[in-house]
Amino acid sequence: MICLASPRILVIGGGPAGLSASIDLFEAGADVVLVEKEDVLGGTPKKLHYSLIAPDLKPVEEVLDPLIRQVESSAVTKKLGTVVSAIENGNGHVNVTFTSNGGKEEAVFDAVILATGFTHWDPHKKYEYGYGVYPDVIDFKDFEKMLSDDNLARPSNGKMPARIGWLLCVGSRDRQVGKFYCCRVGCAVSIKQAMEVKKKHPEIDTYIYYMDIRTYGFWEDQLYWKAMEDLNVKFIRGRIGAISKGDEGSLVAMAEDTILQRPSEVPFDMLVLTTGMEASQGTVEMAKLLGLEMEEHGFVRPLEADSLPVHTTVENVFVAGTATGPKAIPDAITEGSAAAIKAFNYVRRSRGKKATGRSMKKDARAYAE
Ligand code: SF4
Repeated sequence: MICLASPRILVIGGGPAGLSASIDLFEAGADVVLVEKEDVLGGTPKKLHYSLIAPDLKPVEEVLDPLIRQVESSAVTKKLGTVVSAIENGNGHVNVTFTSNGGKEEAVFDAVILATGFTHWDPHKKYEYGYGVYPDVIDFKDFEKMLSDDNLARPSNGKMPARIGWLLCVGSRDRQVGKFYCCRVGCAVSIKQAMEVKKKHPEIDTYIYYMDIRTYGFWEDQLYWKAMEDLNVKFIRGRIGAISKGDEGSLVAMAEDTILQRPSEVPFDMLVLTTGMEASQGTVEMAKLLGLEMEEHGFVRPLEADSLPVHTTVENVFVAGTATGPKAIPDAITEGSAAAIKAFNYVRRSRGKKATGRSMKKDARAYAE
């Protein structure tokens, strides 16, 4: 017998991927519950007050607020300030316990989309850069907030900096700290930040220290060349070995300039550490509750990274956004939509069959094909 009830799908995480997944599921006719541990929607970009978003350098509000408004005005059930505290997945049903303000509530779903995102790598772990020691060494999420608040000032004295440096690949591509992978967006975001500075304050000197610049696709043209040729952002190939205190409260960045092949020591008023991405605590916890496989860098392993990127190794659990690895906001939004259609179709196809809720890899593949 065919079951005509709407597919009942849980979306965990209210960031870019979770928002787009919720909207597309709702528009397809699913009964959607969106759970978010914070009290507001929008995920890390909203929570940490990101400024402009590449590639079009639009304010984060212009990109995400329309998605948030769509979810808010729809019949998607929103559970904010709520966490998933228990999950039992079997016989085609996912039994979920929600916890909020000490209260518990249970519900049953046909499928789950995991969109629990990433966290910025903690720059305290790279002690030689003095984060947490020198107030004018900040990380790029701190700098995003400064830009979005339009409050460009040295934390040490509240004055406008005359020279700012960015240090790319902090907690990325660094075997010493066990992070072997590229954060994928750090070059673009740092260049974008330098461009924002130069557009508003052309008198500020801006330097970007890099191993190599990875502005993939159109970003090469939209960001890298524009920054260098139109806005006079300077690039120095070399990795800063250490940061120390200089004269009059400056910070001296000591590096090896690998193009000029000589040591360089440049005084700065402010240094920005471009930190990498790692799986959020929520991603790790939810993956454990759902019985998902993790890949070697600590993110959720898609069923097939090249051909089935939003399927997981559990047949009725789908994944979107940075839970599977570093990516940009537009890519996370696209993956949310992809996961929505895959989850919706999975439920439609699995009804009428004897649903099993099996979690073996080959069964997940059978449903995906
Ligand atoms: S995107 Fe750029 S900053 Fe990020 S790890 Fe890759 S090369 Fe480094």
